[in-house]
Amino acid sequence: MIKSVIFDIDNTLYDYDHAHAIAMRALDEYMAEQFGWEPEKTEQEIALIYRQIQEEIGQKAACHNRLIRFQRLLEQNELPLHPHALNMYDIYWDTLIRNAKLYPGVEAALSELKKSGYTLGIGTNMTARIQFRKLTSFGLLQFFDFIVSSEEADREKPQKDIFIFCAKKAHCLPSQCVYVGDSMIHDVIGAQGAGMHPLWFRPTKNDSADGQPVPTVLPAAVPTSEQVPVFSDFHDLFNTIQQISI
Ligand SMILES: [Mg+2]
Repeated sequence: MIKSVIFDIDNTLYDYDHAHAIAMRALDEYMAEQFGWEPEKTEQEIALIYRQIQEEIGQKAACHNRLIRFQRLLEQNELPLHPHALNMYDIYWDTLIRNAKLYPGVEAALSELKKSGYTLGIGTNMTARIQFRKLTSFGLLQFFDFIVSSEEADREKPQKDIFIFCAKKAHCLPSQCVYVGDSMIHDVIGAQGAGMHPLWFRPTKNDSADGQPVPTVLPAAVPTSEQVPVFSDFHDLFNTIQQISI
């Protein structure tokens, strides 16, 4: 019997890619105004620093901390940390959170699950404060009984420890948890490895040039969706979970 439903946040509860693109444009404008950098230079430098940090510190929550990325970018380009490191951080996250829109039906689905007695949780690869800001801005924090960030767990999905930590906070066995996420590697394979029931979210995005919905592309060389329950609309989530429970 399923007792807990645990969610990823980014690209699962809301369209991260869309909000991130707008936040990057705001950052590009700041760097152009302050230092005359072209957007290409800003984005190349940020990508370079991200790769360096991942190589140096590995897959840990700190690699998601954009303050560390922006601090390094300024240091390596011999630019003043004050006031730019914090300005860049605030511009990026304030813009992203302002432009982050929940997928349709998320709030109603969480409300229905909550009313039906499921323990609801979050399991996310990210720093805690930013994820709290997002959930607060969405008005969703009230639905969740617990949150596990990789900052708290000191592990990143798809490592199984972070999922086990979630089950512990849900006061049940991993086999009594459904984990809902968009990433085949981080969410589906990770949850499966920890003994949870994965539920793969594959939203249909309306961002093609002609306005037609574009199905999310299946990553190559991963298990097919035949082996994993899939949903693409939060209006169907409750019924899908009921089927897993059987
Ligand atoms: Mg995600």
